[in-house]
Amino acid sequence: MLNTQLNTYPTEDILIDAIGDEHVGTSYDTPLREDAFLLDDATKIEMIEKHFKHIMEIMGLDLSDDSLKGTPKRVAKMYIKEIFSGLDPANKPDIKLFDNKYKYNQMLVEKNITLYSNCEHHFVPIIGKAHVAYISSGKVIGLSKLNRIVQYYAQRPQVQERLNIQIANELKRVLETEDVAVVIDAHHLCVSSRGIKDTQSSTITAEYGGKFLDMETRNEFLKYIG
Ligand SMILES: [Zn+2]
Repeated sequence: MLNTQLNTYPTEDILIDAIGDEHVGTSYDTPLREDAFLLDDATKIEMIEKHFKHIMEIMGLDLSDDSLKGTPKRVAKMYIKEIFSGLDPANKPDIKLFDNKYKYNQMLVEKNITLYSNCEHHFVPIIGKAHVAYISSGKVIGLSKLNRIVQYYAQRPQVQERLNIQIANELKRVLETEDVAVVIDAHHLCVSSRGIKDTQSSTITAEYGGKFLDMETRNEFLKYIG
């Protein structure tokens, strides 16, 4: 029994390191447990607060200090209510479709959408911009809803490739068209503040559907965001 454990742990550690440092994602859907939403937010916050306090204590921090005392609660609330609130489908933006009254049938581009996410391998920030475009199938949505869709999927522990695909898929679904493009250009703090410590590089991912697979349409989009 003990032998098996001794044999499996090092291999697992190597795999964990390889996935984390190479930032490889394993699926398009955010890996969630089946019981992910059995607990309510208040209970989750209470439990995370306890555990985070424990982590700080293990690191030797004195939680009786006024400045540190409130940190476990602050972190717990921030996780559930802010930076990881996009895990909960209940927080998914409700999108209303409008008729495309102006019969505007060119592409609509919203560029430089502020994007804050967190890397699921290190739980440190991913900061960047998302550029999205679609060609109306007869329906349109409010511009701020594009931001909200980006924000919702960004507020999860993420891998940039998956985030890109999740945003594109949701846009296709709500806009009832395949003619969607999403480009993300982002800095990963796990690359700049730790590890290789490269502060200059950014990572670009792109997802094109429908008419955006056509070179000319895609180039027009890239010209707008360039
Ligand atoms: Zn990372």
